[in-house]
Amino acid sequence: MFADYHVHTSFSSDSDTPCEQMIEKAIRLGMDRICITDHYDMDYETGEFQLDTPAYEQKILELQELYADRIEVLYGVEMGLKPDLEENRRFSGYLESHPFDYCIGSVHVIDGKDPYYRDEFAMSDAEMFRRYFEITLENIRALSGFQTLGHLDYAVRYGIRKAEEYSYRRYSDLIDMILIELINRGIALEVNTAGYRAGLGAPNPHPDVIRRYHNLGGERIVLGSDAHAPEYLGYGMDMARDLLLSLGIRYVTVYKKKKPEMIRL
Ligand SMILES: [Zn+2]
Ligand SMILES: [Zn+2]
Repeated sequence: MFADYHVHTSFSSDSDTPCEQMIEKAIRLGMDRICITDHYDMDYETGEFQLDTPAYEQKILELQELYADRIEVLYGVEMGLKPDLEENRRFSGYLESHPFDYCIGSVHVIDGKDPYYRDEFAMSDAEMFRRYFEITLENIRALSGFQTLGHLDYAVRYGIRKAEEYSYRRYSDLIDMILIELINRGIALEVNTAGYRAGLGAPNPHPDVIRRYHNLGGERIVLGSDAHAPEYLGYGMDMARDLLLSLGIRYVTVYKKKKPEMIRL
């Protein structure tokens, strides 16, 4: 089994890669399925990360047919989470009204600001990380309809001192509450291998967080590279696989029509 469940293409405002190029690359890498998960961040402050859903949907459904005998193409989306998006069922209503196979819910914004723009935060790394976990917990409790929480410690990628002010232990009060909430709600934990190329030397979240999730009884782990260009498709998957096995984790989860399926590593 080899699948990538976090992939961006030119339907995301931060990628120029045509869908076909990603799929062709996946076939060359020997993947048996690929889930395209372009960005949609409702109400993102700068106006980026909006999604032309009708055009996107048409394209993915076309490519599913076109490549059916070579690779399974799944229709996914990465939704930005914000606690107020469920007013009038806007968030869950959107997800229900499209035939998605899979949705990643990701926290890209803390109180209106993206940690990617680190200068906009007048706080220490430790304060920013703590606030990020608080907002993540609030989002999980406020929103539903997504299958997986994306890159749980995303904010750490943008620390001024990188991960120096981060460890599972330092934020275990909040991280444990997040993990328990995920398990209780049947939401999977993403292991996002972009952390390897972001210079963290580990995926997001940190291996200690993955271990804790497993020890708390969490069973759903989804692997994704978060590639925005073909050269990063599947990047770090072999390292992530070895890591999971070393933690005693034997299965990963894939989704089709939002139904989970456990696949042996
Ligand atoms: Zn993301
Ligand atoms: Zn992404």
